[in-house]
Amino acid sequence: MGRNYIVSDVGGTHLRAACFPVETEKPTVVKRIPTKGPGTPHERLIDLFESVIPKNEEIAAIAIAAPGPLDPFEGIIFKAPNIPAWRNLPLRKIIHDHFNVPVAIGNDANLAALGEWRFGAGRGHHNLVYITVSTGIGGGVIIDNQMLLGLRGLAAELGHVTVVPDGPLCSCGQRGHLEAVASGPAIARWVEQELSQGIPSSMAGQEPITAIVVSQAANQGDELARAALARSGTYLGTAIADYLHIFNPSLVIIGGGVSQSGEALFAPMRTAMNEHVMSTKYLDNLTLTTAALGDDVGLMGALALAKTISDTAS
Ligand SMILES: [Zn+2]
Repeated sequence: MGRNYIVSDVGGTHLRAACFPVETEKPTVVKRIPTKGPGTPHERLIDLFESVIPKNEEIAAIAIAAPGPLDPFEGIIFKAPNIPAWRNLPLRKIIHDHFNVPVAIGNDANLAALGEWRFGAGRGHHNLVYITVSTGIGGGVIIDNQMLLGLRGLAAELGHVTVVPDGPLCSCGQRGHLEAVASGPAIARWVEQELSQGIPSSMAGQEPITAIVVSQAANQGDELARAALARSGTYLGTAIADYLHIFNPSLVIIGGGVSQSGEALFAPMRTAMNEHVMSTKYLDNLTLTTAALGDDVGLMGALALAKTISDTAS
């Protein structure tokens, strides 16, 4: 009888699930449904799991990548952005009570770091920092081949470090965090401000301005778009220098949609990192790279978590 890992990537718009035979990194089935629809999101997740579990086969473990903040030890989602029903939800218990197999949940950005470390750009590294730059900025840290969790599993919120004291309001309610000045929406907001001041650009009159629009305009040589990405890259590089001081990694991985912006983002990021680092010792054997797993990072991170818990159990 075959043994399988069932894994899921929970997002505000879609729930994805996949079945991986235990010895493989290739799924036998992957399915995706909208998060919103008949039933509660967790009932829909259970139905989705039922639909990917092969008949008459065993489940070794279920692992779920969910938007934080959450408690990975107790398996409780405190608050899921874009899923209002999930407040203090004991998701692990609900899934365990239904399937009666080991269940683990993890913060999606932490698990993205774990997935890149085990299956992606981070293979062979023992210490890495992963930063995802998209609608928000999330992070994950692997130290000595262990995912950094902290006391309640709330560690590695790399987007919520202060880079501009008293700066713009962040999604978390604080001010001047990296996410508030360097995420996709922050890039778009800054471009809109500059356009409203009459700064000339090929983006003038475009609605809506998004980070993708800015990235495309930068590729075409638009000066304002290039300045917007340089601004974000500079903030990111400044924060990365801090992460080098704290974690001393051999690899920094930049994931998320904004990381696709190329050298317009990465050149200023490297410059700022090099300027702010306190010793070039941190840069010896350091690699700064983009993520390798793309849209599958949530599922692969959950798979890495499933393998980790079943390795520990056996
Ligand atoms: Zn914040």
